[in-house]
Amino acid sequence: DIITKRDPDQKQFRNTVSKVLETIVPVLEQHPEFKEQKILERMIEPERVVSFRVPWQDDQGEIHVNRGFRVQMNSAVGPYKGGLRFHPSVCLDILKFLAFEQVFKNALTGLPIGGAKGGSDFDPHGRSDSEVMRFCQSFMTELYRHIGPHVDAPAGDIGVGGREIGYLFGQYKRIRDSYDSAVLTGKRVDYWGSLARTEATGYGLLYFVKDMLDDKGISLKDKVIVVSGSGNVATYAMEKAYQLGAKVVTCSDSNGYVYDPDGIDLDAVKEIKQVRRGRIREYVQTHPNAEYHEGCRGVWTVPCDIALPCATQGEIDLDSAKILVEHGVLAVGEGANMPSELPAIDYFQKNHVLFAPAKAANAGGVAVSALEMSQNSERLQWTFEEVDQKLKDIMSNIYKNARMNAEKYADPDDLVAGANITAFVRVANIMLAHGLV
Ligand code: NDP
Repeated sequence: DIITKRDPDQKQFRNTVSKVLETIVPVLEQHPEFKEQKILERMIEPERVVSFRVPWQDDQGEIHVNRGFRVQMNSAVGPYKGGLRFHPSVCLDILKFLAFEQVFKNALTGLPIGGAKGGSDFDPHGRSDSEVMRFCQSFMTELYRHIGPHVDAPAGDIGVGGREIGYLFGQYKRIRDSYDSAVLTGKRVDYWGSLARTEATGYGLLYFVKDMLDDKGISLKDKVIVVSGSGNVATYAMEKAYQLGAKVVTCSDSNGYVYDPDGIDLDAVKEIKQVRRGRIREYVQTHPNAEYHEGCRGVWTVPCDIALPCATQGEIDLDSAKILVEHGVLAVGEGANMPSELPAIDYFQKNHVLFAPAKAANAGGVAVSALEMSQNSERLQWTFEEVDQKLKDIMSNIYKNARMNAEKYADPDDLVAGANITAFVRVANIMLAHGLV
């Protein structure tokens, strides 16, 4: 009601909040202090929203004006943390819903990070390196006032990868005249990025799914897995799935999907996507047993034991969920952010499919980002194995806590409710301790 009255146009934000609220009702009933102190009302209002002009010049000398944002949602648990997205769809509604989700995801990691999200409606596609650099420099020329290692430490998201983080960091360092490496994460390893950050989200997803299956006495060994996407999350989800003895039979990009009954050849996918920056259809040129199909949704028609949507939001609708269930899927683990539409999630849960929700299952990326900040503060770089072990422990704790709260307040297998409740209680208790701020 509050959101509808204040911001009638922010439908995505309102829908996200109301879905989360539905799951935390049992906690509110048991904790009247959260209601009395209006914790919910405070949580849905960002602590600060910054909106600013980003003027920049293209290679032809033409001037463009984009809009930049930072939504600093909640800093109860630690400095704000969350990605920057450069995409034409970026607007306040989307950033507020992402920032709200980020508060919960970050709280689940158990690490000292609050939640934020930001970005711009700038479209980096087709822009030269120097155009992207000029844009990033202009963006940071305003953003620097609002961030800092103890204030707000942004990371990458859609349209913001290693190149953009490099340009943003360079401009921050130049303006501040200070090497505050922990102000941005996702940095390249040779200037204080973390080892295992690249692998973290995909590996973390598999650690979470493994824990969820272990609890039911199901082994990942020899399970057939359908993966969507062939970007960062998908690639390292496939890598860890193989290391754990499973067989991955699909992957995709925004044009179509590949089905390889012999098991996807991950080296070939890395060569196509990371080295040649090509299209996934090229896979069948060197793998005659594999099939390429145009269109993305068809990937969910491939029979499997486990489905791992790792491409984008809204990629599993109710129809896809029905096909997966018909084929006997045992578990769905969300690598992407909100890849399953709400009716699809309901359908999985009603049909006893083990469901690992994104905010818990893909929290490995932000967890290792927080570990990158710890390494930066110590001015040390940990080994790959050290970071990976910490990632494994963090994912295990996320799973255990979500499961424990699902058992306590909802259906024991409802990890959506379990994750929301775990995060809400952590943030709410800290907010109570901080008084009315
Ligand atoms: P990438 O850009 O590296 O990869 C995205 C992949 O998805 C690409 O293969 C892309 O294909 C494909 N894709 C895009 N749209 C579609 C579509 N409609 N259908 C099928 N495939 C599609 O992104 P990431 O792997 O980093 O991120 C994937 C998801 O995971 C996003 O939702 C992101 O927000 C989320 N996430 C990522 C984290 C991380 O650490 N990277 C952390 C937490 C969440 P194409 O090559 O054609 O563009």
